[in-house]
Amino acid sequence: MCLRVTNLYKNSCYSIITKKIYTSSILSKVNPNWGSTKPHRRVKLYYKLNAMTDPVVEKALAPLRTSVKEQGDFVRQLKATGAPVLDIQKAVAELKLKKKLLDDKELELMPATAYFDRAKMENLLKRRFFYHQSFSIYGGISGQYDFGPMGCALETNLLNLWRKFFILEEQMFEVRCSILTPESVLKTSGHVERFADLMVKDSKTGECFRLDHLIKSHLEKVIFDKKTSEEKRKECENIIIKLDGFNKKELEEIIIKYDIKSPITGNILTEPIEFNLMFATQIGPAGNIKGYLRPETAQGIFVNFQGLLEFNQGKLPFAAAQIGSSFRNEISPRSGLIRVREFVMAEIEHFCDPSDKSHAKFSSVTDLELTLYSACNQMDGKTTERITIGEAVKSGMVANETLGYFMARIYKFLKLIGIDDKRLRFRQHMSNEMAHYACDCWDAECLTSFGWIECVGCADRSAYDLTQHAKVTGVRLVVEKRLPEPTVVDITEIIPIKSIIGKEFKQKANIVCQELKNLSPSEVLTLQKQINEEGKYLINVDKEKFTITKDMIQIKSGPETRYVEEIIPNVIEPSFGIGRIMYALFEHSFQIREGEETRTYFSLSPIVAPLKCVVLPLSSKEEFMPLVKQISSDLLKLAVSHKIDDSAGSIGKRYTRSDEIAVPFGITIDFDSLKEPHTVTLRERDSTKQLRIPVSEIASTVQELTDGLLTWQQATEKYPVFEQQESTKLPEF
Ligand code: AMP
Repeated sequence: MCLRVTNLYKNSCYSIITKKIYTSSILSKVNPNWGSTKPHRRVKLYYKLNAMTDPVVEKALAPLRTSVKEQGDFVRQLKATGAPVLDIQKAVAELKLKKKLLDDKELELMPATAYFDRAKMENLLKRRFFYHQSFSIYGGISGQYDFGPMGCALETNLLNLWRKFFILEEQMFEVRCSILTPESVLKTSGHVERFADLMVKDSKTGECFRLDHLIKSHLEKVIFDKKTSEEKRKECENIIIKLDGFNKKELEEIIIKYDIKSPITGNILTEPIEFNLMFATQIGPAGNIKGYLRPETAQGIFVNFQGLLEFNQGKLPFAAAQIGSSFRNEISPRSGLIRVREFVMAEIEHFCDPSDKSHAKFSSVTDLELTLYSACNQMDGKTTERITIGEAVKSGMVANETLGYFMARIYKFLKLIGIDDKRLRFRQHMSNEMAHYACDCWDAECLTSFGWIECVGCADRSAYDLTQHAKVTGVRLVVEKRLPEPTVVDITEIIPIKSIIGKEFKQKANIVCQELKNLSPSEVLTLQKQINEEGKYLINVDKEKFTITKDMIQIKSGPETRYVEEIIPNVIEPSFGIGRIMYALFEHSFQIREGEETRTYFSLSPIVAPLKCVVLPLSSKEEFMPLVKQISSDLLKLAVSHKIDDSAGSIGKRYTRSDEIAVPFGITIDFDSLKEPHTVTLRERDSTKQLRIPVSEIASTVQELTDGLLTWQQATEKYPVFEQQESTKLPEF
């Protein structure tokens, strides 16, 4: 998608700073009960988990809600009366700021239903090598990460599940397209021209800063400075409000006026540069084919539309999917996996008839309740609402069934892998955020300690991409749709003589032919007249002029019976950022054992956990080895990923170690296991409860538990709970 994600950090690091400032004493002013929470060393985050219901909180938020609503109404009024675009832009920028103030306040004031220690989690992720900054022994590169064994296994499990959940269940066509993309493709998609951010550089060190971020943080400092006059403070606030609407020259003037320097060295800055976020390269040794590393996987699907349509026997609807790496040269990558330069995307392009966006399976999801944050509620200063997707589509809040169907499927997928329902919402793009061609767009956002983060985008992109690629290449990217009845139409059309045009215009021939076919009846008449009178007609294609002569065309006119019409399909695009989803999963599953601050672990669902179980012989004595081998081989036969931990540490230490890497089940071979009939204990990570199970059934039990065919509760009804202490002596035979 060509739009930059400018509001990613809406509630981001700023929220954390806010949380540090608004300690429990502030909270107690709003609700005395919350102030009594025990003080502690860590940053405390107050997650907004539900719609606002507390009257005390509501009272505190009421003025901010009113202010957002008034501004929202003002924007609506400007639009309705056809006010100048600049006025609308400024009003929208002000609305966004007011909305942000409201969002931040909401986050601050909610009761402490969750509490998160990011430093502790990051420490665990690093210690157990889930992922790590790339090339760190060379100093590291920001925005690039290497996944270690556990990160890698988790990503693989997520992607396998994604394939099953979407590609298999929805019968999509998977493709794997080239990452190296020629410039022409990305020119057509708009990325070459528009996929850019403004940046400035430190004139001495060359350090780069994203211009809008830099100005904003500088002005915020001025605002918070006690010495700043009221007048200046207002002026700065006003600039921040309008920042989104300023052009390059206006931003440069702000840099000069406020004498903004490099925040690191204090050196002066260069002029703003428009920085395209794509990584450019040359394809081939001669270096004459300019290319880029793809910034999204979607374009690969669009350029293969014809092949895919044919594969589906020329019929709509159908969907194609692609999983692969994308590259964006972010100016200031940060927040771990959330904003990186190389990341895995999983994208779906669902092609459908623009006049029929119903979905055959919509009825299977109509009753599913989602948390939606509509554009309308955002404009009115209201909060999210729980609503069934059926109602949301019926009321027109969600544009159509297909979009609604995918939102429901995205929700189900995120829940299945373990995203916390209470920290998940769908936020609708407001009209100024949406690409001009998109008709509706919802982001699945997960609440993390960085604020609400867009993890999956779901947009109705209309016919934009196919139309653009067809225009430039001259290739018909259309579907023939049978008309209910044949119709007779009067036509005046040009039939290009391809052999002659091909010889004359070589690789441009296709585009010229397409442009000739696209001429309207009145343009055809002009062409006919000019060729008759002057012997030639000049046609403009891609800013170039081509001379058309009489021998290059035939003109066909008269009545024609039509049985089909050509339509350009519309596209619904769910676009998943796998790294961001993984990060949200880490935060949503991070746990600290009660009363044991140092025992941290991830309660990842067995379905995605990197390893499904650990085999732990209580002793390193030879007698234990046959059972270890047998259990491991039984697990392998059932393809249950596992690890054998026969290290010398105490069993408690070994459990802690396996909890840290999120292993959901532990099989312990103790001294009693050596007796006939052989039994072992099975420990469940989250409850730490244990069952006693025959060795012959242990592998299949773990498999059923990890595949979701058996719940832990059912297992406890089937097998005896194990509570006694393991005996430490070898039994006598
Ligand atoms: P977009 O095409 O910008 O809407 O991005 C689609 C998805 O890719 C988003 O929902 C994110 O999950 C993910 N994404 C975009 N940019 C980045 C980035 N720099 N780092 C990690 N994930 C990203």
